[in-house]
Amino acid sequence: MTLAAASPTVRVRAPGKLNVFFAVGAAGEDGYHDVASVYQAVSLYEDVSASDSDDFTLAVSGDVDVESVPLDASNLAIRAARLLAEHTGYRGGVHLGIHKSVPVAGGMGGGSADAAGALLACDTLWQTGLSHTELHTLAAQLGADVPFALLGGTAVGVGRGDRLTPALARGRFDWVLVLADEGLSTPRVYGVLDDLRAQVEVGPAPANPTVPAPVLHALRAGDPAALARATWNDLQSAAFHVRPELSDIVEVGRAHGALTGLVSGSGPTVALLAPSTTAATSLHGDLTALGHRAILAHGPVSGAKVIA
Ligand code: ATP
Repeated sequence: MTLAAASPTVRVRAPGKLNVFFAVGAAGEDGYHDVASVYQAVSLYEDVSASDSDDFTLAVSGDVDVESVPLDASNLAIRAARLLAEHTGYRGGVHLGIHKSVPVAGGMGGGSADAAGALLACDTLWQTGLSHTELHTLAAQLGADVPFALLGGTAVGVGRGDRLTPALARGRFDWVLVLADEGLSTPRVYGVLDDLRAQVEVGPAPANPTVPAPVLHALRAGDPAALARATWNDLQSAAFHVRPELSDIVEVGRAHGALTGLVSGSGPTVALLAPSTTAATSLHGDLTALGHRAILAHGPVSGAKVIA
């Protein structure tokens, strides 16, 4: 009697991200904006498992509310698996299991982390053995934030955010993330920014979005106070316009010891930077006591990787 070998399962862990700096240029003719972004991967993870299947199927669970995550072919992880199969000529399918810890539609790149996780998990399961460059190219086709979820750490992103250069960072930055009950649509927030700029309610779009040196110096020095002085997010005014209460959260955070607070990406998650791990724990306690949904996280952490 022969025993069929148990179908292997590959598990990958991929991080969410914060943008500690985000400058947005004017909308191009294709509707996309050139950006200059400094990404930091943070310790909220998406766990993606991949096992053999004839078809492409998906199950999603999470520590966060996953009700709005699509389970059909529009899910970024399924799109990633299909793209890899097409690219490599792989004929089978895959069953993906995703356990989410990154808030959905929170501006923290959770869907992008799922896509990066699915690419790496399927590449490993199917033994397609793509190079880093090939995986990065496929990742960029799936979304601007997907390549960074593969890379992790700290990186500068230009173009749509997908042309990445790793940046040096020392030490650890402690964040308290304040979650909103309802997500924000990224295209909507960009649209509001374009409108606010057209009405001259906020400053004009930078002609060439670039990352100022003090942001990179602060990261290199591992200095949260210097980083707090240098952080910026062009999308923040638009996110505040749609959700004025987000600006109150930044103020409450500052009043309870945060060095600064900023909307993560297109929001609505607000990231409060603490001066130390102890201060972050105390800030987290204060905000929770005030009725906010808050999570502790730190960065930078590594990009998507296969775990045992
Ligand atoms: P963006 O990358 O657009 O800034 P985000 O980080 O704010 O997004 P995500 O959690 O990635 O938020 O989800 C954005 C939208 O993408 C969701 O509202 C959902 O409709 C869709 N989506 C597709 N695939 C996924 C996935 N695997 N996980 C979560 N959302 C997904």
